[in-house]
Amino acid sequence: MRCEEVQEALPAHVKDGSDSLTVRRHLARCPDCKAELARYESLMGGLRILQTTSVPVPPGLFDRLLEIPARSSRLDSARDHVVRHRKVYVGGGIAVALAGAAGAALWRSKVRHPATA
Ligand SMILES: [Zn+2]
Repeated sequence: MRCEEVQEALPAHVKDGSDSLTVRRHLARCPDCKAELARYESLMGGLRILQTTSVPVPPGLFDRLLEIPARSSRLDSARDHVVRHRKVYVGGGIAVALAGAAGAALWRSKVRHPATA
């Protein structure tokens, strides 16, 4: 039996020992697969601890969660953001409009005098 086959059978070996005699024999004589078995058992042990570990809720988290509006679409959030920052957006809009007008004026001045160059 090849190492890859044995290592694929490790979950069944660890879970309920439902592997074949061939797997157990290979594990007895192959240091690589024995090491892989040890890593797998360690990983599963860590996962078991994670399943049973509870973490205390940070103070204030529950109140913060309650403050989140129950229904808030992305459009509502974007609209609120624009309303709150109205001055910035209006100023930016004017700046873009002025830049566009300046660009158009520059383009017109270049188009009007092609023969003089
Ligand atoms: Zn092996």
